[in-house]
Amino acid sequence: MLENYIEPKNVIWVFGTSYCGSSMFGLMMSNHPDSVTIGDACKLGQEILHNECLACKSQVGDCILYSPDMKRENIYNHIYNVLGYNNIVDSSREQNWYQSLINKGVPDKHNITPIFLYKDPVRYAASYVKHWTVQTNNLSKKESMNAAYDTFHRRISKIFTINIEPVPLVRYVDLVEYPDEILRQVAFLSGFPYKEHMEDFWNNDHHHFINGNPGIRNILRNNLTTKLKVDNFYKEIFSDKEIEEILENEKVSEILEGMVSNFGNSIEWYSELI
Ligand SMILES: [Zn+2]
Repeated sequence: MLENYIEPKNVIWVFGTSYCGSSMFGLMMSNHPDSVTIGDACKLGQEILHNECLACKSQVGDCILYSPDMKRENIYNHIYNVLGYNNIVDSSREQNWYQSLINKGVPDKHNITPIFLYKDPVRYAASYVKHWTVQTNNLSKKESMNAAYDTFHRRISKIFTINIEPVPLVRYVDLVEYPDEILRQVAFLSGFPYKEHMEDFWNNDHHHFINGNPGIRNILRNNLTTKLKVDNFYKEIFSDKEIEEILENEKVSEILEGMVSNFGNSIEWYSELI
């Protein structure tokens, strides 16, 4: 056996847009004694501010996971060597990150299962407006909606170009409504271990969680619990006319058509797109 030989690990790659539930999914899927997520693995080492690792709050030299000489193509071996879990969820979502790992031959070394977490355009635009108009007041509602069309189109078009198959599609609303069923299916596809109540992601306490959703980080840091609930706040944000406008937008329509041609089988598996 080669000195540095490490058995291939099961790795789930999460593709998706912002607000697609990737933090929650990663924590659910790795809510098992032999699984782990570190959130946005692509940002390991980038979340260093004033010499402090923002994920574990330790000084750079003391952070258990970050090592300046770590090579990105060895990231999953590195996580295994440091933390010891055989099943790793990487919820980076960034197509460029995964493409660089593909270019470096990472899929040949591990059992990679790519998952596409999909948030429909109306809920996506509502999340966008909530953040940029309601919370930070940086953009008008109209500007937020236009920016949402652009990012929705840009991010998902990039996912269409991934040179790796197959990509099971998981809708955000299905993940929240039927988490147990989704987690079982993904465990079956990926080789990840499954146990009951993995959806109670707040019980996942062995992570070094990088980046991700601020609300979820707050739950983890303060040992809170929550109730899974589909966000329907788009109904408060958009009129019927605005919803129609979103669905008829040229960029959104192009993506919806692309979804059918790229992921048709997965879509049949998980009902409709909107
Ligand atoms: Zn750290």
